[in-house]
Amino acid sequence: FLIASLMFFGCLWSLGAQNAPSIYEAKIDSLMNLMTLEEKIGQTVMYGGGWAKTGPFVNTDFEKYIREGNVGAMLNVYTAKATRDLQKIAVENTRLGIPLLFGYDVIHGHRTIFPINLALSGSWDPELVELTSRIAAEEASAEGLHWTFAPMLDIARDPRWGRISEGAGEDVYLTNVLAKSYVKGFQGYDLSKNNTILACAKHFVGYGAAQAGRDYHTVSMGEDELRNVYLPPFKAAVDAGVETFMTAFNELNGVPATGNKFIFRDILRNEWDFKGFVVSDYTAINELIPHGFAKDSIDAARLAMLAGIDMDMMGHVYRKNLKKLIEDGAISEDLVNEPCRKILSAKFKLGLFDDPYRYSDEKRQQEIIYKPEFLKTARDAAAASSVLLKNDGNALPLEKSATVALIGPLAKDEYHINGNWGGAGDRKGKSVSIYEGLQEYLKEHGILYAKGCDLEKDDESGFQEAIDAAKKADVVLLVMGESYHMSGEAASRTDIRIPGIQPKLIKKIREAVPNKKIVMLLMNGRPLDLSEEIEQVDAVLEAWYPGTMGGSGVADVLFGVYNPSAKLTVTFPRNVGQIPIYYNMKNTGRPIPESNPKQDYKSNYIDSPNTPLFVFGHGLSYTSFKYSDLTLSSAHIGFNDTLTATVSITNTGNYDGHEVVQLYIHDKVGSITRPVKELKGFQKIFLKKGETKIVRFKLSAEDLKFYNNKMEFVAEAGEFEIAIAPSSDFKFKHLFTLE
Ligand code: BGC
Repeated sequence: FLIASLMFFGCLWSLGAQNAPSIYEAKIDSLMNLMTLEEKIGQTVMYGGGWAKTGPFVNTDFEKYIREGNVGAMLNVYTAKATRDLQKIAVENTRLGIPLLFGYDVIHGHRTIFPINLALSGSWDPELVELTSRIAAEEASAEGLHWTFAPMLDIARDPRWGRISEGAGEDVYLTNVLAKSYVKGFQGYDLSKNNTILACAKHFVGYGAAQAGRDYHTVSMGEDELRNVYLPPFKAAVDAGVETFMTAFNELNGVPATGNKFIFRDILRNEWDFKGFVVSDYTAINELIPHGFAKDSIDAARLAMLAGIDMDMMGHVYRKNLKKLIEDGAISEDLVNEPCRKILSAKFKLGLFDDPYRYSDEKRQQEIIYKPEFLKTARDAAAASSVLLKNDGNALPLEKSATVALIGPLAKDEYHINGNWGGAGDRKGKSVSIYEGLQEYLKEHGILYAKGCDLEKDDESGFQEAIDAAKKADVVLLVMGESYHMSGEAASRTDIRIPGIQPKLIKKIREAVPNKKIVMLLMNGRPLDLSEEIEQVDAVLEAWYPGTMGGSGVADVLFGVYNPSAKLTVTFPRNVGQIPIYYNMKNTGRPIPESNPKQDYKSNYIDSPNTPLFVFGHGLSYTSFKYSDLTLSSAHIGFNDTLTATVSITNTGNYDGHEVVQLYIHDKVGSITRPVKELKGFQKIFLKKGETKIVRFKLSAEDLKFYNNKMEFVAEAGEFEIAIAPSSDFKFKHLFTLE
């Protein structure tokens, strides 16, 4: 039987034609007819784990499970050799020879690491985001990986939450746009090519809204907020053809996401017609028990299956319990057939039944990793993602002839600079540091380096050396921030100031050199509370974690070779008490009246302004841009018309540069209240000094739609304010009506 079945599959596989779903369906039917229940369940199992990595794999338990046909996908194994070795076991030593799927967190690069995703979103450059994901897919696929757990599409409005670093910030529109770029970049336009990988929209859903920013914590929200804010980026990913979804760890309105039939069956499958498969987050099916939703592991398996979770990541819950559940009649075998079919379908699409080793290519791996053009893109991305938050007295750019006191625990760092999910393998710890980046521009004696202090330790013994360097130099460059593990998963903070004694060192240096220019270069994974430091320094460049070529890209900005153009995609609060704070909030019945800000009984704090330190969309340039003559094609539009909004923008400063032009609206009266401002478009333009460009945006009723309280997606007639602005900090002056 075994030989007969292999011959039979040999014939089927040679039929080729990867992209015709009908052919897959027939192949899948034939294959599934041969599969035992255990083998079908095997496809729903992802195994591997943190320790698996690059082998050797002799006598591991997962090797045993693979031989028994009990594993469909492997986690955290990479390199062409390691994936080939394991694939060989699956293909040659199991009854049906079904190839494994290899999945890994390729989040902001694989070997060549790009800026963290929050940083990259600040480039407001969908093509750049697509290119970085394409490169990540090129590198990852050559190492045998078929599948990345990215993009993370969780809207995040709470900087205490460590995972804010992994997303595209607080805004729905921008995240929707970038969701598409990520999916296209990873998956390419033809999945049957061996340099494309499956993308995974995660974490479905609401993970970014965890109470008090505490990771994995409870999420409670109305369906209007769910549909208008948290779901749209995932819908955008489905529209872009994303092949897989991952569940979230949080509960949503009392039902853990990983057991939530409403979001996975009703919305994702039935409403959105998603055809790919859903993987649980890491042991998230098991966690239905501590959530208080499942009695035991059998119950957890049942609930996750009913909810539509196709693959169990690392939990062993499906492997151990599905057979019994079916034998006891608690769930039907069809519930297992469905995920098995979808997972096999992904393997067919990737061409793994034609050649299971087509991704594990040592030669390609050798040729492709850290290709010079990839490193060049990483350098450009680091420059394009650095946000100039403040630049008093033109402290930046730096002069090449200057003597710079380079101070701070991150100045020579080659490790934290890659951020969380800093990629696979040996590049970690070998990235270009800020120090090395500066060396390209400054003569050796132009850098007076002093570490000053550690990131987290309280030792002040290095302060004096730093102060001495500051006194000798023309300008002070502080490189400070968070260690990379202070953001990311399970890294929420209640205090989002610059950690440790770094703030104290800043004060001491300011006291020692009261009249010198101090520039602060920040590396961190979340908006920080900079209320105190902002007063001490002349300029702040937010470099986030800029990646492998971070030092070079950031130096390009510091010396004006790249004129900074990034803008914040997340609000910087003045203090933790203001959180959550984001630009497209709702109004209250008692806003602060402009005519009488001191009026009693208004919606404010008695000890802090309502306004943030830096608004969404903020980011300076070395040049200046003047916006004028906003004109609308009409003051009224019908439900089938298009409105054209035009603005003239002039580069009025002394440098050529990019500008991120932002279009906002405000739906003044709604059947449910609408945010005070909503981003509805943006364009990144390049203007030479003195140059003027006309920028045009088109808006239709479709762009004005939202979910009302009957959960209908509608545009409502009425008045809309509109503005085209350099950031979200502006007052509306123009109106149109939808009639
Ligand atoms: C994270 C996911 C990640 C997975 C696999 C989980 O802990 O929440 O985002 O993809 O691990 O590494």
